[in-house]
Amino acid sequence: MVAVAVNALVSGLETPARAQRATGYGSGTRKRLAVLNEPLPAEVQGTETPEAELEAEIRARNLSLSESAAAEAAKLVIDSDTLTDEPYMIAIVAATVVMAAAMTSGVIGAVAASSTPVLSAAAAVAATVAGILFSDAFTGVFHWSVDNYGNLQTPVLGPVIAAFQGHHESPWTITYRNFANNVHKVAYGVLPLLGLLALSHPGPAGTMFGVSALMGLLMCQELHKYSHMVRPPQWVARLQQSGIILSKKEHGLHHTSPFEGKYCIVTGHCNEIMDSTNLYRHLERVVYERTGVEPNCWKLDTTGEIKAAALGTST
Ligand SMILES: [Zn+2]
Ligand SMILES: [Zn+2]
Repeated sequence: MVAVAVNALVSGLETPARAQRATGYGSGTRKRLAVLNEPLPAEVQGTETPEAELEAEIRARNLSLSESAAAEAAKLVIDSDTLTDEPYMIAIVAATVVMAAAMTSGVIGAVAASSTPVLSAAAAVAATVAGILFSDAFTGVFHWSVDNYGNLQTPVLGPVIAAFQGHHESPWTITYRNFANNVHKVAYGVLPLLGLLALSHPGPAGTMFGVSALMGLLMCQELHKYSHMVRPPQWVARLQQSGIILSKKEHGLHHTSPFEGKYCIVTGHCNEIMDSTNLYRHLERVVYERTGVEPNCWKLDTTGEIKAAALGTST
C-alpha cells in the first residue's frame, strides 16, 4: 500500500496543492450538514507524521514532507490501484470522448439538414436532458447496490464494491485522482455501448438520449470528485451552486452512516424522488425476502428504523 502511494507520488500526481483541496467527512457523525463545514483532516493538511516505512521510502526518493502527507492522505483500498493517469487509461477515455463528440456532431448535421430543424433541435435537446436524468437515476441504483451488498471477493464487481465502500472511510481520496484515472473504468462499458448505439441508427433524438446517458455515466465519478473538493475549479463551483451538477451539499447528505440515501452522483436531481418513494427500501425488502441478505445500511443503523421501514414493521 505504501509502495503504491509512493509510486503515485513519484509519477507526479500528488502535490501539496491537491492535498489542500481535499476534504474528508468523519464517518459515523450524524450531524449531516455540519460535515460540510468540518475543518480539513490533519493528515490532509500535511501536518501528520508519516509512518516510519513511508518516511524511509520518501527519504530514499528525495520527496518533500508535504508530498508525503499527500500520499498518506490518499488511502487506496485495493493494492493494485493507482492514482496516476496511465497511458491505457488516457487512451480509453480519449476514444470514448472522441466517439461521443463524433456522434453529437453527426446529430447536429442531421438536425441542420432536416426539413423541420427547430423541431428536430428541440427534440434532440429534450432527449439530451432526459438522458442525463436517466444516468443520474442509474447511478443512484448502482451506487445503492455496491454500497450495500458484496465485498472485494465478489466476482466481477468486487474491486468496484470495495472502492465504493472504502470511499465512505476516506472520501477525500477521490480528489487525488486525475480525470482519466477517475473515469476510465466506466469508459470500458461506455465505449462499446456507444459503438452499438452508432450501429443501431436510432435517429437524432434517440442518439442524443443514448450519448448523454452514457456520457453522464462516464462523468459520474468526476462530478462526484468535484463534490468532495473544498475548492473545485471556479466554473465547476458555479455549476454546483446553480444546481446543474451534483452539489457538495446534496452529496454531503449521503456521507453519514448508515449511508442509506442520496445515492445519485451525476446531478443529484433524482435523489428527491428516489428517496421519497422509498425505492431503495423496496429493493432491499425484495432482496431480503428472496435471499435473506441484509444490506449494509441495515447493519449500520443502530436504531433499526431503516430495516423497519423496508419491511413495513414498527420498531
Ligand atoms: Zn456511498
Ligand atoms: Zn462521496
